[in-house]
Amino acid sequence: AAAVIAVSALAGCGSSSDDNKKDNGGSSSGVQVGVILPDTTSSTRYELYDKPLLQKAFDDAGIKADIQNAQGDKNKFASLAQSMIGEGVKVLIIDSIDAASGAGVEKTANDAGVKVIDYDRVNLGGTAPYYVSFDNEKVGELQAQTMVDQLNAAGVKNPNIIMMDGGTDVDNNAVLFKKGAHTVLDPLQAAGKLKITQEAVVKGWKVENAAPAFQQALTAAGGKVDGVVAANDDIAGAVDGVLKDKGLSGKVVITGQDAGIAGLQRILQGTQGMTVFKDVKQEADAAAKLAIALIKGDDPASAGLTLVKFDDPQSASHNLQALLLAPTVITKDNVQDVIDAGALKAADICKGI
Ligand code: BGC
Repeated sequence: AAAVIAVSALAGCGSSSDDNKKDNGGSSSGVQVGVILPDTTSSTRYELYDKPLLQKAFDDAGIKADIQNAQGDKNKFASLAQSMIGEGVKVLIIDSIDAASGAGVEKTANDAGVKVIDYDRVNLGGTAPYYVSFDNEKVGELQAQTMVDQLNAAGVKNPNIIMMDGGTDVDNNAVLFKKGAHTVLDPLQAAGKLKITQEAVVKGWKVENAAPAFQQALTAAGGKVDGVVAANDDIAGAVDGVLKDKGLSGKVVITGQDAGIAGLQRILQGTQGMTVFKDVKQEADAAAKLAIALIKGDDPASAGLTLVKFDDPQSASHNLQALLLAPTVITKDNVQDVIDAGALKAADICKGI
């Protein structure tokens, strides 16, 4: 019943749908900026948000961009970068599969005089001068704190928590999500207020490994779990699938990230507690603005961008300037915020539930 109320509270649910499709044909000649996204499977965000929003940001500025997805293949990533450099791009925006391969692309670009912006994921130990992302440690803090608040509100005493980290082996963001969550949970554990019974990693962010990893963690925890810190919505979906098979769906507070459609639907249906909304429009717009300033040879500050020095723990000589945006929490009470931000239409979320 709660889910039904939440759905009908969503403005426009069940009503009209309007399209916001744009056409983006065009040749690759005159391309000034190349964008490479990592995959289409570790999160729905890349096709749902990043690709169209980056495209729109460049279209609106009249800049020709070549936006590709490496489909989780590092060789493909490198060859896309090569061909974009061959096309004559001035700037490459890369969201790497892992830092080592990302740093390799940076070196190739550097040698060709192409400036690189690390997009969303930083390549530690690399050479890119710019980084646009969110405050990723904050993401983990928000996940853990919201889960704790929801367990408290439900009156659950001394909850058993399983942590389902993302690709900490490949992605510094995943390391920061985990760190942020521990910042909140560890003191509570030390005070005897909760217990982290298991912590598993979905290596390489490979979502097909999420259900088996959670299944294993749950078994090791004796089948007992009250809350799951799931690093993103895609992992949350896999966790909920395992819980469903055990008749536990909706009885465990699960976190998420990315405000994906399925995640928001689970939030409205009461099978996921929260998601972290990182407004990708802000991220795409900032990256595009920065790229355009670099193409024009303008100082980023004069383009209205405030960059701060970012320390690379793996390379003291890495001179990196970052722009980090603020993530926000979405629960069933404010799903409307995602719609108000223009990220999705109510009909996108309501469809199929
Ligand atoms: C991104 C997340 C995403 C994850 C898996 C991270 O680097 O920040 O938004 O869910 O990768 O693709």
